[in-house]
Amino acid sequence: MSHDLPDGRLFIGGEWREGQGAPITSTYSHDGSVNMVLAGASAADAETAIAAAKTAQADPAWRNALPQDRARILTRIGDGIEVAIPRISQIQSRDTGKTLAETAALAASAAGTFRYFAAVCETADDDLTTRRGTSLTASVHEPIGVVGAITPWNSPIASDAQKVAPALAAGNAVVLKPSSWSPLVSLELARIAEAAGLPKGLLSVLPGSGREVGNLLVNHPDIGRIAFTGGTDTGRMLGEQAGRKLMPISLELGGKSPTIVFDDADLDVAVAGVLFGIFSSTGQSCIAGSRLFVQRGIYDAFVAKLVAATQALRVGDPFAKGTQVAPMINHAHRDSVAAYVAGAFDEGGVILCGGTAPDDAARAAGAYYLPTIIAGLSNDAKTCREEIFGPVLCVLPFDSEEDVIAMGNDNDYGLACGIWTRDFPRAWRVAGAIRAGTVWINTYKQFSASTPFGGDGASGMGREKGRAGLRAWQRQKGIYCDLTGQPHPWAGVSA
Ligand code: NAD
Repeated sequence: MSHDLPDGRLFIGGEWREGQGAPITSTYSHDGSVNMVLAGASAADAETAIAAAKTAQADPAWRNALPQDRARILTRIGDGIEVAIPRISQIQSRDTGKTLAETAALAASAAGTFRYFAAVCETADDDLTTRRGTSLTASVHEPIGVVGAITPWNSPIASDAQKVAPALAAGNAVVLKPSSWSPLVSLELARIAEAAGLPKGLLSVLPGSGREVGNLLVNHPDIGRIAFTGGTDTGRMLGEQAGRKLMPISLELGGKSPTIVFDDADLDVAVAGVLFGIFSSTGQSCIAGSRLFVQRGIYDAFVAKLVAATQALRVGDPFAKGTQVAPMINHAHRDSVAAYVAGAFDEGGVILCGGTAPDDAARAAGAYYLPTIIAGLSNDAKTCREEIFGPVLCVLPFDSEEDVIAMGNDNDYGLACGIWTRDFPRAWRVAGAIRAGTVWINTYKQFSASTPFGGDGASGMGREKGRAGLRAWQRQKGIYCDLTGQPHPWAGVSA
């Protein structure tokens, strides 16, 4: 199969140019072959992009654009993404090793995000606030100016869209730095935005080193906000830097999300949901349901069913129809997952299935790892506490609702939770008691552009999506307009 990849030039201040930074290699993790070596962005490229963004954003044609005019461009970008789904999904599957079905869904989600924020942009009202004196009072929202978006490799076009769409809708110019493990699809997004008529300079796409380009964005005096998605250690560091600059930053970070199966759950529904929650995207998902708690009375039966279903998953070529579990992003990441599983042995873990790379010739060169279920660990074990970001599920029994709430919350992360039960009052109680930015009841990994998403604790701060997702990219200003025409009485001057 031939793959029509972007040509490797970067989109810097509205121009397609070779980057001046260190080379980036995009690999196809099914067989380890090289998709492309491209020159990444340098600090100088980032400076060029920021300067162009500053000029473009200051242009009244953009800064003061009527909402319907901004919305029209966003809608065109969304439509452009939708038309290009077959091409985008091919590029992203080559770049990340994800299945075509997954990458097509991510592209469709990105298209929806642009159209959603077009609608939010058109319908967002400023407020005339209740008067409590002699002035007419209003609260209005203005663009921040030049903003930055830093994204990870696991769902590039969807996480890019979650930042770029509301940032543009809010009237900003955006410099996007995607991960150097997945540079290609974000460049395709730039091509679509350009074709949709986005004025030059309002979007730059700079795949490159996090330490060089990402750091520069966060610390640059002309960048007024950053939205970051990535690992907790990186997010913590960037949060400190943003704090020193007194710059708003949103942090979408890692997770170790609990999924809870009560003994009255529909077991087939729960098995399917738990499998999808942990093993789709080969577990490389911030919201992966990686800690499974099963009520003791059904533990043995449920786990047996789950293991059988896991062993039946189709693990293979991302481009093959019907593949459920594709290779991981690359061999280095696969090896870090394998190291966690090796560590689980030392913690007393029992591997119920998987725990190794597949050993057949068809997958030998790829970054494959079999879906793995580990029992026998304590909730305190490193394997249960830390994000592995791979197809590894820890399963633990629990006795009561109170116990499982305590165990679920006994973790630094607070991103997501799944609850499986037919008892809806209980589901609602547990949903309220669990620390998580998102809770799914009898389902998992469902998303809506209108539902705010984000994490608590080590999973980050701030929310993306939803109508408030636009406001995060704006400054709020109160305006008081005198209605009396009289001198202030304090001054003792009579008119
Ligand atoms: P990462 O933190 O290594 O990198 C994320 C981005 O930050 C990349 O673009 C990277 O180049 C950049 N970066 C790295 N060091 C930097 C620095 N010093 N300064 C500025 N930028 C820097 O994360 P990753 O391995 O690419 O992604 C996986 C992580 O992302 C996982 O922890 C996962 O849970 C998390 N994630 C979270 C969400 C969410 O919405 N909460 C979604 C997807 C992924």
